[in-house]
Amino acid sequence: MKMAELNARRSKDPKTHVGACLVDSRNRVLGNGYNGMPRGCPDNEFPWHSPEKHLYVCHAEMNALLNVNNWSLVPGSSLYTTLFPCNECAKMIIQSGVSEVVYKAIKDKPESNQACFRMFRSAGVTLRQFQLEPVVISVSKEPTVDLLARERQQNPNLFEKILDKVGDRAIWSLVFTVISLDALRRSSIPDSYFHMINKPRY
Ligand SMILES: [Zn+2]
Repeated sequence: MKMAELNARRSKDPKTHVGACLVDSRNRVLGNGYNGMPRGCPDNEFPWHSPEKHLYVCHAEMNALLNVNNWSLVPGSSLYTTLFPCNECAKMIIQSGVSEVVYKAIKDKPESNQACFRMFRSAGVTLRQFQLEPVVISVSKEPTVDLLARERQQNPNLFEKILDKVGDRAIWSLVFTVISLDALRRSSIPDSYFHMINKPRY
């Protein structure tokens, strides 16, 4: 699903970013797609507003299927998509032999959704809503006061800025900032995130 989310970020649609990723039964990527204009139809020349855009835009699921380069692996595959498919994509998904659809969000489109449910059920395509795994942030066992002192030494400017802006709520801001920084420091998130944190906007 992370890869589907990354694909979605490539969409030029100003309103709706959808990404899809097709994987085989061993989770090897078979195809990626996002909602976009057809090849040869420049993004800046075709309309991105509704309802005109619907005449032109290729949906993410369609593109993920059309980008497959090993069709022999499609039977038994799973399509991860950030948005529940429309009924037109559902037809393509079924006809391609995809076995499972894993979706993240679903829009309130009763007619299209009902048609999808009916077709998927009848064709034996498994449907599953993606469940986020709980994120566990483990923080240091150091007493918070020690962390505060250490952080203040390392980031004096940040602390002064917070104290200036939040007054008597400062202590909680500091506690949460320190916990966040500590968790980030021990995570694999790139340094650029630190950079962002060190330039707070209040
Ligand atoms: Zn669609």
